[in-house]
Amino acid sequence: MSGTARAGARELLRSIFGFSDFLPGQWEIIQALRAGRDALAVMPTGSGKSLLYQFPAAAGPGLVIVASPLIALMRDQLRALADKGLPAVALHSAQDDAEALAAYDAVASGRARLLYAAPERLATEGTQNLLRKNRVTLFAVDEAHCVSHWGHEFRPDYRGLGEIARKIGAPVLAVTATAGPRTRDDIRRSLFAREPDVFIHSFARPNLALSFARKRAGLRQILDFIGKGGESGIVYCNSRRMADVLAADLARLGLDALPYHAGLDAYARSAHQDAFFARKGVVMVATIAFGMGVDKPDVRFVAHAGAPGSIEGYYQEIGRAGRDGAPARTLALFDPRELALRWRTPEIAAENEAAAGDYARRKAMARLCLASACRFQTLLAEFGEESGPCGKCDHCRGGPLAWPRRARAAALGWRVAAESRFAAFAGEGVEETEAEPVPPSEPVLDPAAMPETALTVNETRLLRALQAERLRIARRLGSPPRAVASEETLRALAVTRPERLDDPLFARVQAPAAFLNVIESCD
Ligand SMILES: [Zn+2]
Repeated sequence: MSGTARAGARELLRSIFGFSDFLPGQWEIIQALRAGRDALAVMPTGSGKSLLYQFPAAAGPGLVIVASPLIALMRDQLRALADKGLPAVALHSAQDDAEALAAYDAVASGRARLLYAAPERLATEGTQNLLRKNRVTLFAVDEAHCVSHWGHEFRPDYRGLGEIARKIGAPVLAVTATAGPRTRDDIRRSLFAREPDVFIHSFARPNLALSFARKRAGLRQILDFIGKGGESGIVYCNSRRMADVLAADLARLGLDALPYHAGLDAYARSAHQDAFFARKGVVMVATIAFGMGVDKPDVRFVAHAGAPGSIEGYYQEIGRAGRDGAPARTLALFDPRELALRWRTPEIAAENEAAAGDYARRKAMARLCLASACRFQTLLAEFGEESGPCGKCDHCRGGPLAWPRRARAAALGWRVAAESRFAAFAGEGVEETEAEPVPPSEPVLDPAAMPETALTVNETRLLRALQAERLRIARRLGSPPRAVASEETLRALAVTRPERLDDPLFARVQAPAAFLNVIESCD
């Protein structure tokens, strides 16, 4: 499209939305839709996804439909659009008949430019009839990862949207902030009748410094991470109780900390949220109930007091830090035992895609906790994006000196994988006729990625002694050394020096007592 078209569009953008220009990527997507093509846009939160369908509505003519999963999100957008003078209505289950009728009327009379609707509302006969009578110029699906079994918030109702889109016949736009390659494929298959233009905005956040640590004294670690206070931040907890306790502890230690979770009454929730926005230096200690629509630019840190549930959720949560582009930091604490449980191969039917997807996401998060390579690079790779080392994460910052640390992460990874396998084998009486539980298919990391220099002098000496022992055992048993113990297991033993025979690493070797003996006698 010509420069004049863009100039005109910018004028509209300025007059209605108050922005001087489009953010990177927005204009290309809007153009594709204008040209009648379908589009799948994967863009991180904060990169202006809603404008992709609000702008065509403002430009008109015709109606833009937005399928949206959350009533709260619809209400937020309606409020914002009312301020801009752009007529928009919504159809969802939380409105009474009068409200729904008013919405129908606004659409039928052509007054409404935007219709937000929950997927189940779109599926009703009444809504379908209404839409047939209107000129629909765009069918947008917000939070499109909900379509996919692989998305972290799969909603069965979303599955029917592809059919509705085909009936409407307008260009289809799917937008999401979190979609790995598998989720993207699923969205493409389920939502689009033809191949969409795919736009993937980079998920890199160069101002975020990621770090992970094994959870030891949780409170102490969180305190060290937060520092002396005075900065706004969020500490995510895996339970309401944990949020209450940790908020009280931090407040007792002099920080301006407040709890936030769905168990608090509405008054306390909104008072705490207001304080977070109004006061400088509030630390919100919250469950994941806190965050949807939280757009505070100067959040300087996000901590996870327990391992995050899924990699996509994790990305969204840390994404609330550093929206202003200034440096911000994150820390996730994890318990290897908990990760091992998550890693445990679930006993699910092969056709249960939702459970398999859930498992894949939990495992991806465990992999990130245990990664020995750059954290952001690993995170982006999970989203299908290639990148170089970030230079800011805990592994990158250490430079060459970080190798012992990386080696420890690697060894821990092996132990977690081993332990989860162990847990699976020890699980509720596996019947003899049943197939053995499938061990995790990918190793925690590529063992080759761990260079020789990763080991200290003492660890190398122990490794040599373990290798010698392996050779002795192999000769005695008349089997190849690799069948006695793999090289990776020996390296993990050399780094972690387990002291008890019930350590899961020993489940991976033959003659474990002999190896334990070597570890004990080598110092
Ligand atoms: Zn890095």
